[in-house]
Amino acid sequence: MIPVQKALKLLDHNIQPLGTERVGIGNSIGRILAEDIIADSDLPPFNRSQMDGYAVRSRDTRHAPVTLKIVGESAAGRGWHKDLKRGEAIRIMTGAPVPAGADAVEKIELTKEYDSLVSFIDPVAKGQFIIEKGKEIRLGEVVIAAGRRVTPEMIATPAAFGYSKIKVAKQPTVTIIPTGAEIVGIGKKPKRDQIRDSNSISLASLSANSVASVYVGASVGDDLEQLGNAIDSAAKVSDIVVTTGGVSVGKYDLTKRAMASIGARIIFDKVALRPGKPTVFARRGKKYFFGLPGNPVSAAVTFLLFVRRAIMLMQSATDPAMQRGFAVLNSPLRGTKSRDVYFPARLASSADGKLIAVPLPWIGSSDLVSFANAEALVIVPKLTTFNEGDVADVLFL
Ligand code: AMP
Ligand code: MG
Repeated sequence: MIPVQKALKLLDHNIQPLGTERVGIGNSIGRILAEDIIADSDLPPFNRSQMDGYAVRSRDTRHAPVTLKIVGESAAGRGWHKDLKRGEAIRIMTGAPVPAGADAVEKIELTKEYDSLVSFIDPVAKGQFIIEKGKEIRLGEVVIAAGRRVTPEMIATPAAFGYSKIKVAKQPTVTIIPTGAEIVGIGKKPKRDQIRDSNSISLASLSANSVASVYVGASVGDDLEQLGNAIDSAAKVSDIVVTTGGVSVGKYDLTKRAMASIGARIIFDKVALRPGKPTVFARRGKKYFFGLPGNPVSAAVTFLLFVRRAIMLMQSATDPAMQRGFAVLNSPLRGTKSRDVYFPARLASSADGKLIAVPLPWIGSSDLVSFANAEALVIVPKLTTFNEGDVADVLFL
């Protein structure tokens, strides 16, 4: 049995990036950036007005009230490109270039225009309502670093710098193979001793967040040869094969043997983790195999910890780990002697602004109903007991 941290390190050592491809910017959302996004111009590209009003030489307004002569107009896309001289002002619109000579903008509400003159009630402060050229970003600077996931919130930035195509990491394909003689489809009424296959849809959905293609294979009974064949064929069409079930030490737990039988090297097969102890990770060249436990919570948690990390590492993501933080426990939690426990919890906040973890009643690895209500996992390291009010590490779901 190896510690979780060791298992994560073994993944880091074994997983190799898949390579990169260029996609249209519209198809880049959700992908991992494989190039730095670099500013191809200063932003703003010129001194830009933040207001509708008048651009002036601030010193001309020092003895306000004062009246200046309107000599032109600068609108967005149609600037006024002469030098502003003493005693002059121009009408300017939000987003328009501020002409040379002008060093401040006054908003229209504080002025009065008549004929081609404009009056200012108060002096206009130097620099007011102007965003200087290059103040937001300079030509050549990195605006978004490679390794980050492209989000709708950031997409305007590469667009503004002319990236009609973006280099992103190739996405791995994943095949999920449910195993076990007891498994039936979700649409079926389970007969005696049968259970519905809830893991396939769960793992496929978790994969879908990070990969291009997810296949769900037909469920395989507890048969070594069948299982080996299913894993082998899955590896032909996918980069990662994920099985669930059959990893315990029962008579019918055959996953590990099946992986070995098709020439995959077992990298680890037991992690000091609850839920998820019997997780198997194996490798054959650039194909990776995960034997996740059958219990639904174990399957989901080990997917998030290990498979998701592998998917992210194959795309050279900067941060392949689950998002982590700290929370104050609102009830005690007792760890175990030999394994770190990841307890499902809800999150709340206290009146003084602290993040609170509310552990859910939890029977164990099979308790998918409790897990369905969880927003985070509280990590209780082995040999640790937390009291109410203690601060613990949490992983956000
Ligand atoms: P196993 O690892 O095969 O011993 O399975 C452990 C537990 O998980 C058993 O109760 C199985 O019935 C259950 N289980 C296995 N596969 C699935 C699945 N695809 N969906 C839901 N539960 C499963
Ligand atoms: Mg089984």
